[in-house]
Amino acid sequence: MDYAFATRCIYGKGRGCTFDRTGAISFPIYQTATYEHPEVGKSMGFDYSRLQNPTRQQAENIVASLEGGVDALAFSTGMAAITAMMELFKPGDHLITDSDLYGGSIRLFNHISKKNGITFSHIDCSTEDVESFVQENTKAVFIETPTNPMMNVIDIRKISEITKRHGLLLIVDNTFMSPYFQTPFELGADIIIHSGTKFLGGHNDTLAGFIVANSHEISEKLRFIIKTTGSGLSPFDSWLIIRGIKTLPLRMEKAQENAKAIVGFLLNEIAVKKVYYPGIPESRGYEICKKQARGFGSMLAFEVESKELALHILKNTELIPFAESLGGTETLLTYPATQTHADVPEEVRLRNGITDKILRLSAGIEDKDDLIADLKQAIRSFRR
Ligand SMILES: *Cc1c(COP(=O)(O)O)cnc(C)c1O
Repeated sequence: MDYAFATRCIYGKGRGCTFDRTGAISFPIYQTATYEHPEVGKSMGFDYSRLQNPTRQQAENIVASLEGGVDALAFSTGMAAITAMMELFKPGDHLITDSDLYGGSIRLFNHISKKNGITFSHIDCSTEDVESFVQENTKAVFIETPTNPMMNVIDIRKISEITKRHGLLLIVDNTFMSPYFQTPFELGADIIIHSGTKFLGGHNDTLAGFIVANSHEISEKLRFIIKTTGSGLSPFDSWLIIRGIKTLPLRMEKAQENAKAIVGFLLNEIAVKKVYYPGIPESRGYEICKKQARGFGSMLAFEVESKELALHILKNTELIPFAESLGGTETLLTYPATQTHADVPEEVRLRNGITDKILRLSAGIEDKDDLIADLKQAIRSFRR
């Protein structure tokens, strides 16, 4: 029996997948490093927690079922997941990546993967002809959509036609939409990445990362990598992710509702010059987003008329914290130029439109009128 999404958020593929014998409704935290073997050559399926842990496995099974993948692997952070994913490649390989990625991914690619002999073309996958960048040694295309922080929308299906034609892997970092709004395997992706720190965990209290695979071949390679390199998610943090995911549909709906209300407010503020949100019908990504996702999400960015005003807002909100991260119950304001994207070379940052007048907002699940009142007083208290 295939359960609907909201049910899978709570039970994964079904209640039979839990194996606790006490009847505990909440999945137990198996805080153990190792496991007893009945005799030589026999195992209960668990040998050592770097390899397998029941609580981690439960979190992995739920995420795999939400994305429709054959397997998911849980890592200590999103960056640990992306770092492990890069172990699928070898010196001499070439990857095409979008240029407007999470700053940490760009830092990993430019400062660690490059040193390991992997080369990159960072291009705007929402506007450029991706196929013309495919080389003989190209192995994969890595994208996020909507992008961070400029909310460009990339047509996943269109890119997947190119990757399939050339035998490349299509890797999609699906953090911003979560599987509630977007399931990239249905659009032709081969590997999905999540920073579980964001919407999956959902409470700004846990770091986690996931790689979801849609083939046994990729899953086996990744299982070997996680076993060998050892960055799997701890039992307690796995439990927090399991708990967070139970309310994913409710949180995503409420956060999106708040984001839409905030966008409506910002569009009418004189000091706000531009609002970036794929749910605005006039925005470049609206049609594609509508086609490939079930919603527009709760992430947005906006440009104000001066750097001074941007700094003023960050200093003067009374409710909304100025903090890095996204996807949690708390609405957060981020300043990409000095926070998430500080390590992106300035010329790339400016080319992508990430000026010092851009603020990013992750809508949480508070009351929307309180959020709007806070933004309003922070913007209007600025003396021009
Ligand atoms: C936060 C984030 C990451 C990194 O995840 P961590 O859990 O912070 O390591 C990767 N991709 C995106 C899109 C993110 O927002």
